[in-house]
Amino acid sequence: MTDSDFSRRLLAWYGRHGRKDLPWQASRDPYPIWVSEIMLQQTQVSTVIPYFERFIERFPDIASLARAGQDEVLHYWTGLGYYARARNLHRAAGVVMEEHGGHFPSEFEQVRQLPGIGASTAGAILAFADGQRHAILDGNVKRVLARYRAVSGWPGQREVETRLWALAERYTPKRRIEEYTQAIMDLGATVCRRGKPACDACPLATGCEARRQGNPEAYPEPRPRKTLPVKAVTMLMIRDHNGRILLQRRPPAGVWGGLWGFPECTWEDATGWCHDRLGIEVRLDPPWPSLRHTFSHFHLDITPIAAQLLRTRPRIMENEETVWYNLSRPDARGFAAPVKRLLEQLRKQL
Ligand code: SF4
Repeated sequence: MTDSDFSRRLLAWYGRHGRKDLPWQASRDPYPIWVSEIMLQQTQVSTVIPYFERFIERFPDIASLARAGQDEVLHYWTGLGYYARARNLHRAAGVVMEEHGGHFPSEFEQVRQLPGIGASTAGAILAFADGQRHAILDGNVKRVLARYRAVSGWPGQREVETRLWALAERYTPKRRIEEYTQAIMDLGATVCRRGKPACDACPLATGCEARRQGNPEAYPEPRPRKTLPVKAVTMLMIRDHNGRILLQRRPPAGVWGGLWGFPECTWEDATGWCHDRLGIEVRLDPPWPSLRHTFSHFHLDITPIAAQLLRTRPRIMENEETVWYNLSRPDARGFAAPVKRLLEQLRKQL
């Protein structure tokens, strides 16, 4: 199969089976395309659609996103994970307002310099919004190309990635770039799936080296395994006399940066920790069953403990970083997934 057969077959397949009515495909406005591309990083289309629709309804253009507070942006992202994406999107909206007069740039290098946008995302946005020819290499495309040419090695390694970029560049056609870009993403998502690829339905089957070898799932190779370390934390769900819950904003960088969470106690003696660190006296309930949250680089074992504030006049003052959160009248703020789940459980106890 020649290089041009690759794109021709893919485009023919896209004509019959590709996705053409996704909400961000309705126009060539780069803003919704950009939002969708960021949401789709590491996340499936079916998960993204409701988040995308709510996000665009609340922040219909770059100016409204740039004007919003980070808390509200994170609130609309809560549950999608990888929150650095939301923080970068928000920051980038500010950059577009300040440095590009509110117009999303159309130069590849300018797009790529925006926070949170790498070469593949920049290429996809400019292909969809402006018909520019750029190769893309997201996770789905890496999988298709690694299998098609039986590229060994983990794509996180620089030489493997360089090789995949060269293949992506080689197969990207000069025309019908929007359709081709969507086609290769769709093929990876729906046919050349991570598990059980549907090779019999694949338009690239006759030229696919991994299929010829009889073991497509061997490509791409996974990240070399190493055991993830386990960290442990106690989350204190402190109620005041009105049933409100004490929440603190996490530091902007690092895990769950900028999201709201419970005070995290690292001492065995949670009562003493509350006294020394928060200046309050509490009565602890027995711990709830612990939860495990797995990040890419470690497991976090969370022990939730509910606690009742004993002081009638808490010394804790509300400010930018600390609130007493009303479970029956929740406002818009961003939570990490386990915190959101625990708040739900607390609300059911009201
Ligand atoms: S033939 Fe199978 S392994 Fe090869 S690209 Fe198609 S679906 Fe993927």
